[in-house]
Order: sequence, then C-alpha cells, then structure tokens
Amino acid sequence: MPALDLDTSVSILSGVGSRRAEILVAHQIVYIRDLLYYFPRRHLDRTTVTPIRKLVRDESHSIIGQVETFGEKSTRRGKIFQVIISDGTGLLILTWFNGIRYVKHLFKIGDRLAVHGKIEWYNGFSIIHPEFDKLEENDDLLSTGSVIPLYPLTHELRSAGIEQRVFRKMMREVLKSVQPARDIFTDAFLKDYNLVSLSEALQQIHFAENIERLKTAIQRLKFDEHFFLQLLMALRKTSLKQTATRSLPDIGPYFRTIADSLPFDLTKAQKKVLKEIHEDMKKNVAMNRLLQGDVGSGKTIVAILSSVLAVGNNVQVAIMAPTEILANQHYQSFVKELNKAKIPCTLLVGNMKKSKRQSILDGLKNGKIPVVIGTHALIQEYVEFKELGLVIVDEQHRFGVLQRGKLLDKGLNPHFMAMTATPIPRTLAITYMGDMDLSIIDEMPANRIPVVTKVVKPARLPKVYAFIKDEIKAGRQCMVVFPLVEESEKTDLAAAVENHRELNEKIFYDLDVGLVHGRMKGKEKNAVMAKFELNEISILVSTTVVEVGVDIPNATVILVEHADRFGLTQLHQLRGRVGRGSDKGYCILVHRHESDKSRLRLATMETTNDGFQIADEDLKLRGPGDFFGLRQSGFIQYKIANMITDGSLIRQARKAAFTMVETDPDLCHDQHAGIRERFQLDYRDKLDMVKIT
Ligand code: ADP
Ligand code: MG
Repeated sequence: MPALDLDTSVSILSGVGSRRAEILVAHQIVYIRDLLYYFPRRHLDRTTVTPIRKLVRDESHSIIGQVETFGEKSTRRGKIFQVIISDGTGLLILTWFNGIRYVKHLFKIGDRLAVHGKIEWYNGFSIIHPEFDKLEENDDLLSTGSVIPLYPLTHELRSAGIEQRVFRKMMREVLKSVQPARDIFTDAFLKDYNLVSLSEALQQIHFAENIERLKTAIQRLKFDEHFFLQLLMALRKTSLKQTATRSLPDIGPYFRTIADSLPFDLTKAQKKVLKEIHEDMKKNVAMNRLLQGDVGSGKTIVAILSSVLAVGNNVQVAIMAPTEILANQHYQSFVKELNKAKIPCTLLVGNMKKSKRQSILDGLKNGKIPVVIGTHALIQEYVEFKELGLVIVDEQHRFGVLQRGKLLDKGLNPHFMAMTATPIPRTLAITYMGDMDLSIIDEMPANRIPVVTKVVKPARLPKVYAFIKDEIKAGRQCMVVFPLVEESEKTDLAAAVENHRELNEKIFYDLDVGLVHGRMKGKEKNAVMAKFELNEISILVSTTVVEVGVDIPNATVILVEHADRFGLTQLHQLRGRVGRGSDKGYCILVHRHESDKSRLRLATMETTNDGFQIADEDLKLRGPGDFFGLRQSGFIQYKIANMITDGSLIRQARKAAFTMVETDPDLCHDQHAGIRERFQLDYRDKLDMVKIT
C-alpha cells in the first residue's frame, strides 16, 4: 500500500468496496482525515471495566462478560428480549423492550460482549437497552493490559459488515501507512501548553499503549477543538474592531428627564453597566455586549435608558424579544418611560392589520419612529430603517445567530446588546459568547424580599390551594404553570386545559381563573394577559409561555406542576415571576414523579436563590446542548471536547488563541500556516456568518 494522504478517499482502504464507501460517506467519513478523527466513544481496559460483583445501582458501568443464555419473554408490557451474561463474578441481565426483531439475531451462547449502561435492579443487576459490542478472542485486555477502542457504530455501519473488528482493522491500516500529519503547532507552543504532538495524539486515541498516553492524547485533541473555537471568537472580536460604526457620544436631551423621574434609585450595578454600555457606544467600533442579570435584577430599565441614549444621538433603536407576550410587555415598559420625554415608540409583531403595519414600516423607514419593539417580525426583509444605531435582543439564546445577524444587517453595523436572565456559567459564556463583552448586574434592587420556595407532594395540594385563596383574598394574584416541552405535545396541553377547568369550576369556583397556552392565537393570549395585568383574573393557568420576562408585581404565588419535568434554570426563571413587588413571594413546586435525582434537583431550588449556582447544577445535570438548545441551532459540534469539565483547558486554549490573534490578526505568519488552513477548512463559514455582527 502506498503512503496515504489525509485527503485520500477512504475507498482506497482494503475491504472498503463501493457499498461500504457509500455508507462511510453517509457518516461523514469521506477522507482518511475523517476516519482518523472518528474517535472511539469509549475505551476499555482493566481500569474502566467493572466486575459484575462490584456493580453499583444507578451508576453507569462497562462490563465484559460471556453470553450464558438469551431469549424472548412475554410480560404485562408486551414482549421483551433478554440476554444474560456472566464474568465469573456474577450475572447481569440485558433487556430490550424495542428493536427486538433486530437484536434477537445478534447473539450466540459464548459470545464475549462489552456492555455499557446504567445499572438497575430487576431480579438482579440489569441494564435496559445497553450499549454493547462483541469482542474478539484477542481483545483480551484483562491479561495484556491493552486498551480497546470502541467506536460509535450505527446500525447501518454494522449491517454493511463494519463491526468493531473491521473498523479497528481499517484504523490500523490507516495509522500504519498515513503520512504523519504535520503538526499545526510549533514545538515551542506544544511545550508551552504542555501538549503532545498531533500524530502521537491521533495514534494513541485509537490504539493507546496505556491509559496515561491515552489521557494525554485526549487532552491534546480536546485542546485543538477548544483552540479553534476560541480562535473563531478572537477573530470575530478583532473583525468587529476593524469595521467602523457610528459613535454615539452624547447623553442627549432625554436621558436625565427619564432617569430622574424613576420611582426608585438605580442600583449600583445598574449604574455600572449603563456606564459600560455608554462607554461602548461612544466608540466608533460597534458594541457587542452581553448584559447578564438574574431575574428581577432590573435589566429592562437599563435597556430603556440605553435606548434613550441612542435616540439622543439621532439614531433608531430596535428591541427584539422571543415571544409576542414579552414584546408586548417590553413595549408597555418602554412606552411608560419614553412618554415622559415624548419619544415615539411602537410595537411590531406578526399579526397586525395591514394598514397599521404599513404606517409603522413607513415610520421606521423615514425615521419618524425612533424606537421599535417586536418579535421575529422585525427581521423580515421589508422592514427598513432610516438609521438603525442600536439593536437590543432579549433572551438572545432563543434566537439563532443568523436571526440576530439579520437584524443587525438592517443598520450600518449598529451597536449591539444582548440581554439574558439565564445566568450563563463561566465556561459556557467564554465558549459560546467569547466574542462578546460581558456586563453583569450582580445586585438586586434593595426592596426585594427573597421568594420562599417549597417542594410539595400532590397530597399537599388542598393546603396549598387554601393558602392561595388567602393570598387572593388579600388582593394578590397567582400563576399555575404546566410543563409543555413542545408546543405540539397534546397530552401536556390537555392536562393544562383540564387543570384549568378543575381549578375554575371546583377549587376556585368563586374566583376568575384564566388560561393561556402556546396553541392560542396571539390575540387571545394577549387578551387574557391584559386581564391578568388588570387583576380581573386572580389565577392564571399557563403552559411555560410565561417563563421569561412577564412582569406582574401583584402576583405573589407561582405554583409549578410537574416541577420534576423542568430544568432548574427554567424553574428559577419561573420563580422570578413572583416577588417582583413589595410583597413576599412564594414558589410552590409540585413533585409528581420522584426519583433520587429529582429530589436532589428540587432541593437545590429550596436551598438557593442564586441563579449562577442553579445554572451550574443544571449544566451538570443536563449538558450544554439542552441548556441552550444549541444542538438545534447548528453551532459548532464538539467531537471530543467537553465544555463542562474542560474548564481549565478552555481557559488555556482561549489564552493561546487570543495571544496568537493579537500578534498575528490575519494568521499570515509562516508558523501559523497550518492553523490558517485548518481554520479555513472547518470554521470559515462560521466567521462569515457573524462577520456582519
Ligand atoms: P429583569 O432583569 O428580570 O428583566 P425587570 O427589568 O423586569 O427585571 O425589573 C423587575 C422589577 O424591578 C420591575 O418592576 C422594575 O420596575 C423594578 N426595578 C428595576 N430597577 C429597580 C431598582 N433599582 N429599584 C427598585 N425597583 C427596580
Ligand atoms: Mg426582563
């Protein structure tokens, strides 16, 4: 076999015919390079395999054992398929409820299996739907001390005969004959950051001599991924600095009018972030700032005053919110303040009368309307501005990067500020928002009394309802929230509707109970919200549409049904809906499906009001993809890096990338050629995507 190039097609490998090549390509394995970067999902060696005797319930373990027996069984829930394996220290039951037709042909008595999964106890140690691989005779890790790689193989790969054994053979062939990739980093750099060479890392990640070398290999490959993402951030940040924008230096005639009329003093934190924002807007480099502040910390007034500063410099401001209810609420808050200085302000949402929309569009185009608040409607092509100078996006992680870009595109590189009440853990912030400057409101308005949080079992509900009645008698209001993960989940919706009926007709028959949910038309929703705001409705039953931002200071109780189904960050957001006025707030979490984990999670809510602490817990429990819905938003997918556990590595990679861009902003130095090439190959589109921002 001739020496392989990284850019050679995988079809050159022995055993890879046209059918296998096709299937590999379908798995994004096109070139030798892709194969090398197809990392094992797990490694097995003496230290990572647990003897069955030592298994612990509720923990995940890898086990190696021999098939003793297998077969189908009928149960109350239907047919199941089970395999029993033994490793000489005990028996382990593997169970499948689904896909039986497929799995039942896969096993023979005496097969050696590596299995992995969470250990449960049903008449013995068992794993439901385990990950499993058949091992070969010579995968005798227990005696040789070698490390066996297990690759993520899909059903399609396996049906084409690409089993672990075949995959490893291909990989061995590649590693034997591939030209060692020239390292993208210099020796000095590797030494500085304590990294092994790329060829060593690629060799060891697949066929590690021992666990230590595997660890350093993983470390190096993770570093590369973090490094390129940070490089992207560093380049974005410098490209922003290079594009000129209009500076907005004046305080203008309106700021004091409004700031001096507020019924409260701004907190120190609010003043500090306003100053940071104003300093940014003075520059002729566009601001790119993330304003973070826990629920109730008072971000809205900061947004209003920032807008007023911009308007004072004769430019327009657009504020985008993720839902119509939120946009509407912001609009109310803005109008209230802007009226004091007679600054026109308007709301632009999806369903509006044509004539009304047209007059708004005209006003934005000719500049007569300086401030517009809206939903996605703002990014439609036909929305034009005379001179858009500041863009504010609320809860921006709910929008894709592209949407934010579209709004910015409507101005000549306007100043940009994102706001979020989701306290973003540090590592996540520098990973995903590493190109933004951070302003944090780390102080609550002084008059706030912390919300009391209680986790209750359903049996306690009658007492809770009695308490709610008392609160309402005292003139306050209450929200009841139901989980609705997808707006299309019919059973969830039905549960909320049913509960509303029960509360309205039976439990609070003498009170007005309203209902809002995601399937309602915007108009209907707004009508109900308006009634709630006016206290014409005492209790509002809703699906999670009230999650962010809704501001009803008179609401003192929030009752969250099925609290165990919410993420902690979401619960914290919901809790922030109460206790916004001067009365004490109560958050009642109804715990319906108890497990050790859910008890622990909900207890966190009882013990802390600190959004950052809660976000960290949440991130640990749910993973970053779910945390932001980033998986859907098409951002960078890590192959091996982990942004939760790689904290110090991320910081090092960031330092390395930012230092590099500082000294060589175009990556044109000779020793950066390899880096530039890789970057252009894998990350260029992401740079372009945001260049406009
Ligand atoms: P969030 O940061 O969650 O968006 P808001 O901006 O909605 O919070 O503010 C919550 C409530 O606190 C609002 O009713 C607002 O008027 C009030 N508020 C804001 N700043 C202060 C302050 N400095 N002192 C007292 N109340 C404030
Ligand atoms: Mg808000």
